[in-house]
Amino acid sequence: MSKEKRDYYEVLGVDKNASADDIKKAYRKLALKYHPDRNKGDKEAEEKFKEANEAYEVLSDDEKRRNYDQFGHAGVDGQGFGGFGGGAGFGGFEDIFSDIFGGGFGGFGGFGGSAGSARRGPSRGADMRINLHLSFKEAVFGTTKKIKIKRREACTHCHGTGAKDGSGVKTCDRCGGTGQVTMRRQTAFGMMAQTTVCDKCHGEGKIIEEPCDYCHGSGLEERERTIEIKIPAGVNNDSVLPLRGQGHAGANGGGKGDILVYMSIAADPLFSREGDDIYLDMPITFSQAALGGNVDVPLVDGTTKKIKIPEGTQTGKIFRMRGMGVPNVNGYGKGDQYVTVKIETPQKLNKHQRELLKKFDDSLESKNKQRGSSFWNKVKEAFQ
Ligand SMILES: [Zn+2]
Ligand SMILES: [Zn+2]
Repeated sequence: MSKEKRDYYEVLGVDKNASADDIKKAYRKLALKYHPDRNKGDKEAEEKFKEANEAYEVLSDDEKRRNYDQFGHAGVDGQGFGGFGGGAGFGGFEDIFSDIFGGGFGGFGGFGGSAGSARRGPSRGADMRINLHLSFKEAVFGTTKKIKIKRREACTHCHGTGAKDGSGVKTCDRCGGTGQVTMRRQTAFGMMAQTTVCDKCHGEGKIIEEPCDYCHGSGLEERERTIEIKIPAGVNNDSVLPLRGQGHAGANGGGKGDILVYMSIAADPLFSREGDDIYLDMPITFSQAALGGNVDVPLVDGTTKKIKIPEGTQTGKIFRMRGMGVPNVNGYGKGDQYVTVKIETPQKLNKHQRELLKKFDDSLESKNKQRGSSFWNKVKEAFQ
């Protein structure tokens, strides 16, 4: 089939600014109209149904919708439509079909789709988001933090089975362990085969004879843990550190979620930072600027390093100290430190100093103050 794909908004009959709710409504209408159960053997309806599903899968997902808006079909193709009919990975579909058909979904004869995803098998535990506050220097050099978290873990009393000690877990007799029951029901749209989650075992296929007193059969309990987080050198305000498998435990023996550590980094009174580069404003004296020489520059690690200030340095001049910045968090070398010199005008001069400075000023010739004289030349030109 080399038919070109239609625009997803056009497919659903909504405009580009449609809200999530509008999109859901439009999709629901089409899904009802073209549902295979109502259009047995109608190839065109089947195509329309698939098309609507595909459009909804993209437009109902903020990220995919953004990609689609930006890049069109190229931005979202190959992102998991392949699974259609496999019954997996369609968060949101279940929702909509339970809305439409009143609980559970299934019976998509033509699609080879079972109600597989309606079954409540093991599910991966939830991720946990943590906000971590770091000082400027901790972010630059990395650190180790211990923090307290509360997470769901396998119940220690029943070892996650949900069954009270000594009592067993048996296969559900209503659904035979499949977690689903299929019913035929006369509806406004005709006879429909409807597969729903088994009401006896709630889709788990197993029944606990006597639930654990402690977790009431969930197999999970909340525990407080202190975890150690190693923060690599070079993290920044937009860094997210994933700690795989350290989040909540999943239900029914599902895997653990992750902890996502978001960083917020305090400002430093002296240094500032942009990416891997450090910025510093540094005062130098008028004589240092005029005579030139080596001056000590503080570094973020608390040491100092000398840089050479050339004779006649003007205020605002920026010196680059190569490799004196922040180590790149991904290991790509180090940034630089940029030092902006600010010339300090001497204050509270004594009589002697004042005289010296006056003498000095009298001695100045036009070549000593090139910028000054060219400034006054410009002023003269401007008012002539
Ligand atoms: Zn059952
Ligand atoms: Zn338990």
